[in-house]
Amino acid sequence: MQLRVALRTGLKSLLEHQVPSADLAAELLLMHLLRQERAFLYTHPDLDLSDQQVDSYFRLISERSSGRPTQYITGHQEFWGLDFEVNPAVLIPRPETEHVVEAVLDLISQQKLSGGACCRIVDVGTGSGCIAVALASELPLASVFATDISPAALEVAARNAARLGMEKRVEFIEGDLLAPFLESESPRAFDFVVSNPPYVARAERESVQREVRDFEPRLAWGDLAQGEEIYGRLFPQALRALKPGGHVAVEIGYKMKDAVLGLLKTGWVETKVIPDLAGIPRVITARKSG
Ligand code: GLN
Repeated sequence: MQLRVALRTGLKSLLEHQVPSADLAAELLLMHLLRQERAFLYTHPDLDLSDQQVDSYFRLISERSSGRPTQYITGHQEFWGLDFEVNPAVLIPRPETEHVVEAVLDLISQQKLSGGACCRIVDVGTGSGCIAVALASELPLASVFATDISPAALEVAARNAARLGMEKRVEFIEGDLLAPFLESESPRAFDFVVSNPPYVARAERESVQREVRDFEPRLAWGDLAQGEEIYGRLFPQALRALKPGGHVAVEIGYKMKDAVLGLLKTGWVETKVIPDLAGIPRVITARKSG
């Protein structure tokens, strides 16, 4: 079968199964199978695929049609221009989450701290490690720590740090939120606490895509009694773990702005809400007073 026919047939099957971004998925799966870049697909439309390649391609197409995210099939997702390994133990990094990285870099440049001189950062619930590794790659002298309650996620995160040459830059620690840092009497040590925590409420479960609901780890996306409950636990811990003047930067869910701002009334100043490219409030930052 010619490459272009395989691609067209694969796309048709994905569309029949209402797969979102079906044309992108059809291409990515074929690129993955052939170990080629996208340009190859369009410069070799007449290439004859072997029967085995065709069989494998349609197997991948049928996996995707059953709802499994493309990234769990290919094992990769790009974030901040870096290639991250992903598997079902971790949330697939989202482009919106890059705003968390941007927010931290902006705060550092506003404080006129040179990126090189800055600083102690902890990424809470690091999952694939995307935020921690992206920040480490931007801030060559920063000490970056990352926690997760899931040992399986931490294994993926550590592999990502190693693949991207950041294994000496990020220290991964198993634990719930900031608990591993709160054992000492005066743990105030961080300049930044950053997080994209689980924030989907149980009541919103049905509005979440089946790709998330059925395939991504529930521990990572939520299924919580209240979407904002995790911030209610994180912020008091962050107040203890931050230096005076240190910042939190968190991703928030759709329509959660007011509830999360309500949790930053005491102990925090200079609260800021940053929208994503669709104009949805997506990141909140605040400075610990003092
Ligand atoms: N920090 C990771 C990300 O942003 C994982 C987040 C999570 O599992 N909630 O993708």
